[in-house]
Amino acid sequence: MPFQLRQNRSDLGFGEETDLQKMRPWILYLYMRKFIFVSGGVCSSLGKGVAASAIGALLEGRGLNVCMIKCDPYINVDAGTMSPHQHGEVFVTDDGAETDLDLGNYERFTSGKLSKANSITTGQVYESVIRKEREGRYLGRCVQVIPHITDEIKARILSAAQENLDTDVIIVEIGGTVGDIESIPFLEAARQLINESGRNNALSVHLTLIPEVAGGELKTKPTQHSVKAMQEQGIQPDLLICRAPYLLDEATRRKIALFTNMETEAVFTSFDIDTTIYAIPLIFFEQKLDQVLLKKLGVESRHADLEPWYAMMERFNNRQKKVKIAIVGKYMELHDAYKSVYEALFHAGLETGVAVEMVKIDSTRLEGAEPVAQIIGEVNGVLIPGGFGQRGIWGMVQAATWARCNKIPYLGICLGMQIMIIEWGRHVLGWNDADSTEFNHDTRHPVVSLLEEQENVKNYGGTMRLGKSESVLEPETLITQAYKTTHIFERHRHRYEFSNVYRKEMLESGLRLAAFTPDRSLVECIEWTDHPWGLGIQFHPEFKSKPTAASPLFRDFVAAARDSQEPTGVALNE
Ligand code: GLN
Repeated sequence: MPFQLRQNRSDLGFGEETDLQKMRPWILYLYMRKFIFVSGGVCSSLGKGVAASAIGALLEGRGLNVCMIKCDPYINVDAGTMSPHQHGEVFVTDDGAETDLDLGNYERFTSGKLSKANSITTGQVYESVIRKEREGRYLGRCVQVIPHITDEIKARILSAAQENLDTDVIIVEIGGTVGDIESIPFLEAARQLINESGRNNALSVHLTLIPEVAGGELKTKPTQHSVKAMQEQGIQPDLLICRAPYLLDEATRRKIALFTNMETEAVFTSFDIDTTIYAIPLIFFEQKLDQVLLKKLGVESRHADLEPWYAMMERFNNRQKKVKIAIVGKYMELHDAYKSVYEALFHAGLETGVAVEMVKIDSTRLEGAEPVAQIIGEVNGVLIPGGFGQRGIWGMVQAATWARCNKIPYLGICLGMQIMIIEWGRHVLGWNDADSTEFNHDTRHPVVSLLEEQENVKNYGGTMRLGKSESVLEPETLITQAYKTTHIFERHRHRYEFSNVYRKEMLESGLRLAAFTPDRSLVECIEWTDHPWGLGIQFHPEFKSKPTAASPLFRDFVAAARDSQEPTGVALNE
């Protein structure tokens, strides 16, 4: 139901709803959809995704249902084929869309459900317009950027918003920076939607940079130019969020407002913080950003309930100990490559009262002469995240052996679980060539392999297990202890599986098979016995972890690391 009537109006002093008011939801639903377009200027990496997510969190705190959409100007159809080295992690939604990592932020900050429809790329838009043109659906007309491409963008935004009938506000983040050639059709589509919806129903929020130059002076000129660039696209921003080293004073805000044709009260600061990005909803809230936004959108809303965010910050401030977790992977130089994993570790720290120090180790380093213990060092836990391809696999196996033999808590995610299987085959069962057929097709011990029916599929996309699926957990296992239930739904993104041919030998040698698909045809989780906490799962629990509700597996892994005896967690101030 739309927002105007969903809250308890009598609480707000509006009295009882009249029959006419009760009918309004449908009318409002048809005519009064609220849009917020978030764009960025000056340069990239200002935190546009986080700003859009924080706005979503604030509106949810006001009792509204938000739908978050990302428009990516790149020509790739989706992020599935992009290298994590260059583009960061591929975020996977419940319905198996391989999307930009910003969607991960949306899910961590808001509770709105995301699907394929929430990620719109230039590649998808052109693909579908060209297909329609080939089918003759444009009736012989010349197919152009305006209106055909922009109409396709608009249709996609509206259809994503339509997926949940009770959506109140649609927040559309436009990737890239104003002035980029690629962003122009998206900004034009936004301009048209703002124009068609009316100013009260659609807003532009623009994020810019206020740099500090030598002498400590803040410079507003780049922001003025950025807003001019927006105006050239036909969009007058309604709200400005200025990324600055510290909170802008009234005089600076007034100056910015004067030069950008805005009201001073609509100029906000996203200042540099050394705590956590999850403080940003509260930073905006304390500047009354949500109030200004709702006023401009003409939305009556209930009192803000940001209790979960304040409680989360309290947990952040109350963390007592520090635990060191080694992340042994292959895309270590770019933080964004394992973004959801790092975030999930942080969330787990909030719930277990510890600050997680992440020690990032490129697994190829473990393949040289330097002793493993020296490289991994004094850590309290080892995590091997997902990955594709052969490089660095031997180093990961070394890390798993080290964690298993030294009884260091271990979490293996997807590839990290496959590494556990390979390691067990090689070192416990004594099969030196135990491997995944992804890395060695001719091994005599293919302990990880494709399913038979996948073997002849040539198209890569056709063999990938993607998106949400059910796992059934066995009693008396670490995984059941973590989830406190026996049926769970988590997200997958992989091709290879625990090879069923080896189930018996693995089991008999002491590996615990702790979860299966409902038909028991695939192994979803394995655990080390005779070990404090060693577990691998074929799915990616990091995608569903939130700052206000950590993934149960990450939580228990970090708790085990905190409680491990050797080496002990150190006090935060040490
Ligand atoms: N490369 C492995 C597979 O395809 C693991 C994938 C992953 O870790 N996401 O099965």
